[in-house]
Amino acid sequence: MSYYKEKRIRKLKKKRIWPSILGLFLIAIILETIVFAFLGLYVMDLIDRKFHDSYKSSYNIAELMFSDGLENFTAEDLEQYIYMDNKILAVSVIDSNNEVVWSNNNYKPDINDIRIYYDQLGIYGDNFELIIESDGRDIFEELIDEVALSDDVLTCIGNDFITDGQRLLTERNVPIISSDIWMAIYYEDYYVLVLNEISVLNNDIYMVVITIVLMLILSLVFIIYYIASIVGIIHNQKRITKVLYTDIVTGGYNWLYFTKKGDKLLKKNKGKYNYAMVAVRMEKYRSFCTCFGVKEGEELLENFYWSLKRIIKKKEFMAHHDEADFGILLTYLDEEELYSRINYIEQVLKNVVPNIKMYFRFGVCIADSNDRSVDSLYNNSITALDLLAEDSEQKITSYDVEMKKQQLWERKVENEMDKALVTRQFKLYLQPKYSTKEENLAGAEALVRWVHPEDGLIPPNKFIPIFERNGFILQLDDYMIEEVARQQSKWLGEGKELFPISVNVSRAHFTREDLAGHICGIVDRYNVPHKFIELELTESAFFDDKYVLIDTVKKLREYGFIVSMDDFGAGYSSLNSLKELSIDVLKIDADFFRGVDSVERGMLIVSEVIDLAKKLDMKIVAEGIESKEQVDFLTQQECDLIQGYYYAKPMSIDEFEEKYKEI
Ligand code: C2E
Ligand code: CA
Ligand code: CA
Repeated sequence: MSYYKEKRIRKLKKKRIWPSILGLFLIAIILETIVFAFLGLYVMDLIDRKFHDSYKSSYNIAELMFSDGLENFTAEDLEQYIYMDNKILAVSVIDSNNEVVWSNNNYKPDINDIRIYYDQLGIYGDNFELIIESDGRDIFEELIDEVALSDDVLTCIGNDFITDGQRLLTERNVPIISSDIWMAIYYEDYYVLVLNEISVLNNDIYMVVITIVLMLILSLVFIIYYIASIVGIIHNQKRITKVLYTDIVTGGYNWLYFTKKGDKLLKKNKGKYNYAMVAVRMEKYRSFCTCFGVKEGEELLENFYWSLKRIIKKKEFMAHHDEADFGILLTYLDEEELYSRINYIEQVLKNVVPNIKMYFRFGVCIADSNDRSVDSLYNNSITALDLLAEDSEQKITSYDVEMKKQQLWERKVENEMDKALVTRQFKLYLQPKYSTKEENLAGAEALVRWVHPEDGLIPPNKFIPIFERNGFILQLDDYMIEEVARQQSKWLGEGKELFPISVNVSRAHFTREDLAGHICGIVDRYNVPHKFIELELTESAFFDDKYVLIDTVKKLREYGFIVSMDDFGAGYSSLNSLKELSIDVLKIDADFFRGVDSVERGMLIVSEVIDLAKKLDMKIVAEGIESKEQVDFLTQQECDLIQGYYYAKPMSIDEFEEKYKEI
């Protein structure tokens, strides 16, 4: 498969699933971070507020206690207040000597307890904690001195706690539900120690819970949406792959998949199984479509596919290629088995529609150890198939070494033809035509030779059919017409007597608009009288489009060119073409004079054809004449001209000039 094709397919099938999964994780993480950040902020703010409230009420108590003097403040006064503010559990006041001077319910902090609280606060973070309202570090340190903290604890508290006073403490990890905390308010040289119960109520977290639930629902929706889209992508990918590998005619696997899977099969089973690529073609599929309809034609192909699919083995594979062509990669034990399987396949295909006659051809290419790619094997089997003549009885053909050589040769010809034309490697050869009456030169046929710089002289049958297939014949024939005109003009200039030279005009030219005008244009560049240029057309052009041919011949003759029909009697001739075409010369094909058994019958036909042509006012040229007997016979039958090895082979201009000096 070509690089670009493969790249495009890979792009189509690209698995974009990982970015999606990553995206899902990212979104989940982001959403959860938002939820927890929000939650964290909310809780921090909540605790901050709780601490602030506790501090405020502690301070109020301190203020209250000292408003009328501490000595006048009783536990009952406090209880009244506590009743109002039931978050306060106990109050103790210590003086600057750290002596407890006031306490309610004898509930006073033990210095050792405080030490423990400190300890826990800094290190364990238990639910007993201490907060100190202080204007600076000194007082705090005093207290710490008092509780005789060890250096370790001090350092720990110092780092986390002292530096920022109250604020820092509120940011610490305080349990949300309930926590008893001593607040020390420094008031008029006393410490008022207030034990606060700081608790988070249901009401407080109500909002948090709602928000969390909402956020979780939102996250869930997002996640579900994302998972759904990932499932969608996977599903889509599967669909794309399916579409990519499905043949629209048969609904089975298509050629792309065949080449992929087939290449893998060949590679995997190298040495284990013998493989052969069989190209199957239904002949005259288009006629079937014309008779029964295109839809029915496609249905037929679909049935072919599924019928074949049923009979191929596990290690084999097949697909529809195009039109009515299929490729099957078959395993086989020996050639006999392979051929009997192909016959079986033919039988199966024919049984798809038993009451209609259908014909199949099979091109076979054995996968050898060097050539094991589906595309090239199929190409070879199709090459073999294409080389089967249309009228051949043979239905199975194998790709062989000769075909490979032919393929390589065709490639070489196609690569070099343009350069060969520009560098004038195509040479004009002339084969004389002799008059039967005077037995002298009366004309010639222009025949091309490719004088290759490395391969030497290449005969036309090695490249003309290739040019006819690829269209280059148009350029070559123009070139030959020009070469003939140039040569005639040269001889004319030298005062030599001219004779008609015929040039072969391939049937492909009849696709050209105004072919006659085109030829006229080439010849007129050299001022050669048109009667010295003869154009040899083959009958096959008549069957392509007879009206174009009739019209072109008419115009050519009006321009004054001689028009001849080449190879008359070769292949399928039709006397009908003689009825409708007015031409000057009939060239009887050499085939009439070949063969051992039928010579006499051939001669009989030739004499009748000559008679007929004479009546139609045509000149007769017999070509391919090799023997004296043939010449005598033709002379006797009053054939006008003879072209053949008996008189001369095609020769270069130099040889021609040498041989016919007298002209
Ligand atoms: P064609 O037009 O029928 O040319 C006659 C062929 O028969 C020539 O083969 C010629 O060499 C050969 N021939 C002539 N006398 C004899 C003989 O007595 N015995 C035998 N065995 N053969 C004889 P050539 O030159 O190899 O050309 C083969 C074909 O190539 C031509 O058949 C023609 O169809 C084609 N061709 C040659 N030159 C051109 C060209 O310039 N343009 C086109 N379109 N086709 C050309
Ligand atoms: Ca010819
Ligand atoms: Ca001929």
